[in-house]
Amino acid sequence: MAEVHPLIKSELLPPGPPERRHLISIADLTRDDVERLLGLARIFSRSLEREVKKLPTLRGRTVVNLFYESSTRTSSSFELAAKRLSADVMSIKATGSAVDKGESLKDTALTIGAYDPDVVVIRHPHIGAPGLVARYTAAHVVNAGDGTHQHPTQALLDLFTIEEELGGIEGLHVAIVGDVLHSRVARSNIQALTLMGARVTVVGPPPLIPRGIEVLGCEVSYSIDAIRAADVVYVLRMQRERMLEGANYVPSLREYSARWGVTADRVRAGQKVMHPGPMNRGVEIDPEVADAADALIERQVRAGLVVRMAVLYDLLTHGPVEVKVAEIEEVA
Ligand code: ASP
Repeated sequence: MAEVHPLIKSELLPPGPPERRHLISIADLTRDDVERLLGLARIFSRSLEREVKKLPTLRGRTVVNLFYESSTRTSSSFELAAKRLSADVMSIKATGSAVDKGESLKDTALTIGAYDPDVVVIRHPHIGAPGLVARYTAAHVVNAGDGTHQHPTQALLDLFTIEEELGGIEGLHVAIVGDVLHSRVARSNIQALTLMGARVTVVGPPPLIPRGIEVLGCEVSYSIDAIRAADVVYVLRMQRERMLEGANYVPSLREYSARWGVTADRVRAGQKVMHPGPMNRGVEIDPEVADAADALIERQVRAGLVVRMAVLYDLLTHGPVEVKVAEIEEVA
């Protein structure tokens, strides 16, 4: 006789919205998606105020962090985010792994896939690496930075920080200043900020501003004075490791900081200053600005944890968000 399968409660619920499998680019998200993720991050930030900070929500799930480029903030916050949600976490760095022995990304993805991870978080110097992992594993893939292309969770944590500090994003003016050419953070942030209704001006010397960047919805200025008009000054790192050898983007770092560095006399009182880290103090940002009360840099790091908890949670749960939110609140 065929076994009778008992109906479980979830089978009685109407089907949820189609599953979103990966977070590879800000372009994957609608404004509603961003609002939902920021809302979830707000709920998770309340859980950080509790004495016991761990939530049981992702118990039994496996998250693999695969980092082919150096990282402090992103790798540690993804690891802690997964742990705070009670998932099992495995963190693999390219150095010291079989990648050192010449293993291809495809073979590494197939190897990791054999453990049936639920999520693979990947950082890689090549554009498109997250898409390749998505092809060769059944996991949800989160892009933690692919070359100069995208860093979507950075943009989400920046939105979260701005919203918490300034009460909203719509109508704000953000100046993104510095090495836009090599910056995945700039690309993701221009898309995310304009999606949420902010005005964005990219500012820097012509060789460091990609031609045609305006198609992303931003304005361009080649004058450092343009940062004064903004509500938020977002400083980018000079990405020397991505600069082609022999190319003269700027005459020298000393000259760059003299002409383009964000110094105390170039910002207005009350203007918020952000930086994704790691900072080159004294190059793109003056230590006096980085350590001032209006700098949101540490708050960005704190936001990184709750936003990455929200992203992992959102990718791994289905169905009506309200129900799931109520579940978290119950445990919180
Ligand atoms: N940490 C950021 C990134 O990985 C910014 C930077 O490295 O300058 O893109």
